[in-house]
Parts: sequence; C-alpha cells; structure tokens
Amino acid sequence: MNETRREPSRAVAAAPRILVVEDESDLALLLTYNLEAEGYVAESVERGDEAELRLVESPPDLVILDWMLPGVSGLEICRRLRARETTKTLPVIMLTARGEEVERVRGLSVGADDYVVKPFSLPELMARVRALLRRSRPERIAEKLSAGDLDLDRETRRVRRGLRDIHLGPTEFRLLEYLLERPGRVFSRAQLLDGVWGQSVEIDERTVDVHVGRLRKALSRGRERDPIRTVRGTGYSFDETYGKS
Ligand code: CA
Repeated sequence: MNETRREPSRAVAAAPRILVVEDESDLALLLTYNLEAEGYVAESVERGDEAELRLVESPPDLVILDWMLPGVSGLEICRRLRARETTKTLPVIMLTARGEEVERVRGLSVGADDYVVKPFSLPELMARVRALLRRSRPERIAEKLSAGDLDLDRETRRVRRGLRDIHLGPTEFRLLEYLLERPGRVFSRAQLLDGVWGQSVEIDERTVDVHVGRLRKALSRGRERDPIRTVRGTGYSFDETYGKS
C-alpha cells in the first residue's frame, strides 16, 4: 500500500471537527460550506438517529443541532449527549425556529451551551462557534501544547523534548498532537485512525501501531521515560502523569 499518499493534509486533519445536524438540506449545505470556509472540518447529517450513531462512533469538537428533526429530536439528542461520559462536555449549539423564552429555557436545561433562533445571521453563528470552541476546547485552538519537558508548537510544527529538537514525520506529528490534546484519554486504534488519518481512509488498524512505534522511538532516547501509554486490549493514550511525577 502506498502510505505516503495517505498522509493527512495538515490543515484538514488538525482543524476542529464540527457536526451539523439539520434536516433542511439547503441550510445544512450552507452551514457546512461556511464552516469549511472558516477552516473547520464540517460534516452534516439529516436525521436524529443518524446523528446519534455519528456522535457515538466519533464525537466531533462541536455540534450544531437543530431542534426539530426526523428520528430523534435535537432536544433528546442533547439530553443523551450529556448523559454519556465521552460526550458530557461536548459543545452544543441548538438551532430552532421557535424563539419563545420557554423553549429557550428548555434547550438550555438539557445542557445546550448556546441557542440560536432561525433565521439567524451566518456571521453571528460563526462568531458563536468560535467563541464556544475557544471557551470549551482551548486545546483545540491553542498554538502550543505541552506536558512536562515536551513541547509541541502548531505554528512552527516543532516538537522539543527539553532542549532537544524532535523530528517527526507528518503522521507522527499529528498523532502526538492528537494525544496531547487529551492527556489521559485512551483512544482505540479505530478512534485514532478516525481522528488522525480522517474519516474516509481505509487503513489497517495495525498501521496505528507502526506509527505509534515510530513516534515513541523519536520521543525517547535511552532510559528516558516513554510518555505514551499502551492500554492492553484498548489502545493508546498520552500519560497524564508525564512530567508530574
Ligand atoms: Ca428541522
């Protein structure tokens, strides 16, 4: 297999992912188009039950959720997101045609972070998306990530361990970036493929092991501590105790 052709492009893979759940296809298209133009990776689904599947499979960084949907309502989806450990803090912006104060209160009471009434202005919605990501996922837009003596700079694409420059290939860089965004969280190989390589690729899960191996080799020399933890039967995580013990 030709692996180099499948290296993720940096701009796409590193951008925050947004799921749009909206059954009006014109509006869904308009939203995804504008989100992509802002540099996000946007995907849309039309049905509530479809959204549920996507959200369990691979939680995005933010959801724009319409209230009235076929399948499962936006309100119910939001309630379920909040009840699930992996999506408890996932930022949600609810869209609705109803502007009644009582509906607004209901939306916020099931845990939506923000609430936008249709018809809305696109620049305003984009501003809210930015603000919400900045507030809830600062690590997704931070220029620098670090843990202990390890520093990763997204702007310059440099990684350092103490005073030493670490040279990583694009996939290893992205893998480290992804793990460092959520120290301690354990990712399955399938989740890493999704997050690092992207949705549409068909790659064997063992490829993940190969790249984790390369990343480890580049990060640690001799007896230096390995910051990546292998969780047997599950996957990998960045050791959240690294640099703290
Ligand atoms: Ca609708």
